[in-house]
Amino acid sequence: MPLPEAFDYAEPDGMGLELGDQVAAPLGPRLLRGVVVGLREAAGGNRPLKPIEELLAEPRLPPGTVEFIQWAARYSVDWPGQPLAIALRGARAPKPRPVRVLEATGAQPARMTPAREKVLAAAARPLSPADLARAAGVSSGVVKALVDEGVLAARLIEADASFPPPDPARPGAALNASQAAAAGALTALLAEGGFSVALLDGVTGSGKTEVYLEAAAAVLAADPDAQVLILLPEIALTQAVIGRVAERFGAEPGEWHSDVAPPMRRRVWEAVAAGRCRIVVGARSALFLPFPRLKLIVVDEEHDASFKQEEGFIYHARDLAVARGKIEDAAVVLASATPSLETLRNAEQGRYRWLRLEGRHGEARLPDIELIDLRETPPETGRWLSPPLVKAMGETFARGEQTLLFLNRRGYAPLVLCKACGERMTAPDTDSWLVEHRYSGRLVCHLTGFSMPKPKACPHCGAADALVSIGPGVERVEEEAKSLFPQARVAVFSSDTAFDAREGKRLIEAMADGQIDILVATQAAAKGHNFPDLTLVGVVDADLGLRGGDLRAAERTYQLLAQATGRAGRKEKAGRALLQTWAPEHAVMQALVAQDRDAFVAAEMAEREAAGLPPFGRLAAVVASGTDPVALEDFVRLAAQSAPNSPGVEVYGPADAPLGLIRGRRRKRFLVRADRTVDLSAYMATWRARMKPPASVRVAIDIDPYSFL
Ligand code: ADP
Repeated sequence: MPLPEAFDYAEPDGMGLELGDQVAAPLGPRLLRGVVVGLREAAGGNRPLKPIEELLAEPRLPPGTVEFIQWAARYSVDWPGQPLAIALRGARAPKPRPVRVLEATGAQPARMTPAREKVLAAAARPLSPADLARAAGVSSGVVKALVDEGVLAARLIEADASFPPPDPARPGAALNASQAAAAGALTALLAEGGFSVALLDGVTGSGKTEVYLEAAAAVLAADPDAQVLILLPEIALTQAVIGRVAERFGAEPGEWHSDVAPPMRRRVWEAVAAGRCRIVVGARSALFLPFPRLKLIVVDEEHDASFKQEEGFIYHARDLAVARGKIEDAAVVLASATPSLETLRNAEQGRYRWLRLEGRHGEARLPDIELIDLRETPPETGRWLSPPLVKAMGETFARGEQTLLFLNRRGYAPLVLCKACGERMTAPDTDSWLVEHRYSGRLVCHLTGFSMPKPKACPHCGAADALVSIGPGVERVEEEAKSLFPQARVAVFSSDTAFDAREGKRLIEAMADGQIDILVATQAAAKGHNFPDLTLVGVVDADLGLRGGDLRAAERTYQLLAQATGRAGRKEKAGRALLQTWAPEHAVMQALVAQDRDAFVAAEMAEREAAGLPPFGRLAAVVASGTDPVALEDFVRLAAQSAPNSPGVEVYGPADAPLGLIRGRRRKRFLVRADRTVDLSAYMATWRARMKPPASVRVAIDIDPYSFL
């Protein structure tokens, strides 16, 4: 519940409560699930406390998890109920349903056949009827006949709740010298025990995954109860890493993200709480799982902005991972080819151990990166691929190799307008253009999910067939690639086409298998994967991320393009990346071509330092939204007056948010900048306590904002 603090209850005699217990407690007229976050002796006060109703027969949250939840709420200046709700997501999911299995009753069949013999042999293990037929290699009719004769009988058993233990003794890859040095340093750090943070820094394909799996093996081998958490920014990436963990340790890890079915989530949650699940691979919310003995947290692609949760409970999983590591006395490994400036600063200052991997593993080389100046060689009108890129695609296809076209824009066209009256199609209650999706034939708002069929006539002036699609999305580039190379197998990968983990995995496997010649992809597929025959990466709009006044625009563009271009040439074959840009002189483009990350980072750091921006200063945002513009205006005026005066803190705003209207709510923003020495969470908590928003106004506080919209 969104309550500012925990409530006190009396413990009935003999209940034997302990920290972390799940209980049923009365709140007003209702009975709610709660968690014991503290216990103390108290002589009866002036007001009798309500008693706890019941101790639930549910797993207890370990002390570290309880402490972490409270820490996270304090840091994010939010109510503790928010992170607690995330931590209990698995506990509240439905239990897996019991499964029906067949067992031999001991009765002999009237007539024995070879097929029946095979079934009886396979029935030594309890299997479902379908699995039994498959295991015996017979038709389901054979199995059914044996059931009808009473030779086999059905029984309901609990779904398999065991996670086979990982085997850390299985041999990993033979590490090269630089990998071995990094793995050695990591294992030494782990052997020391206690909290530590290491930055594993190496270009794409340098073997960072191999190195952290080696560290995981050391942790699992040293302590039979130790648990390991591997966090990834995208569901599509968890799939690839799950495969590598299973291969390395001979057992599937627990999988945790929003696409995991609720009964399975419950299974993972309970197994983690019981210490039976020793490796979890998951997205950011896996950080809230009830690990009793977490010894290693890996944050892979640590620079990735997807680790920032922007809605509901606002947090950055990388930053919270470090906090959880501290609470659990665990080691934290941050891995990236393009670490965030925050992490690089910590490494430079010696707060994090900096482990660098040299170059790519084996024969693989980083791709040559070239710029295509769109001012000199623009695409034809209504097309998006310039002649030099088309030529390179043709050569790549002729060699039987693969091309990845990267464009970080879903759908067909980002804007639809009426050529008769100039009307731009926008969402009804949100300040955003509707994006055309050809596969679904709809216009979609990417902010709210609102969608409508594409109208035949302009809704504004009524002109028929006057709506034109402006600009490219991945679907449009796919269309162009198909028309340019009719013989090529072209596929598109975005969160619309790879709508769930399984579909995403299928596309990635097809690409890795060479069944796709040209893949048009958003960032969902441009990160982390290994495609052996991919030798050309074309970036359709390298300037896309540079538009808009975001603190991290240059940093993020550099990271994304380094990742995307890094997909090429992962094996023996040399790779090439072509970046289409209107601004080839921009520092980001120059750094990419020169493959000079350090120079780019140094220049960017200097700018941030001069402005006192992260990582040299700290930021927080306040976003107030409301349906009643007058009430919102009044509120932000009063809020501005109530901001505490504090040395080293500056408050800017209120200002209209760039996205001024979402779902019918107007939005206003404040931005707070503070020196690094300021406890910004405490400052924001004081301010928040003074804010008295009317019922129509919602206030969200965002510590260390990544979005400024
Ligand atoms: P990163 O995580 O840095 O992008 P990976 O760990 O995915 O790099 O390694 C890139 C590719 O090289 C993978 O296919 C991996 O299996 C392979 N590889 C890396 N190191 C080794 C090694 N020491 N022996 C064999 N293959 C390796």
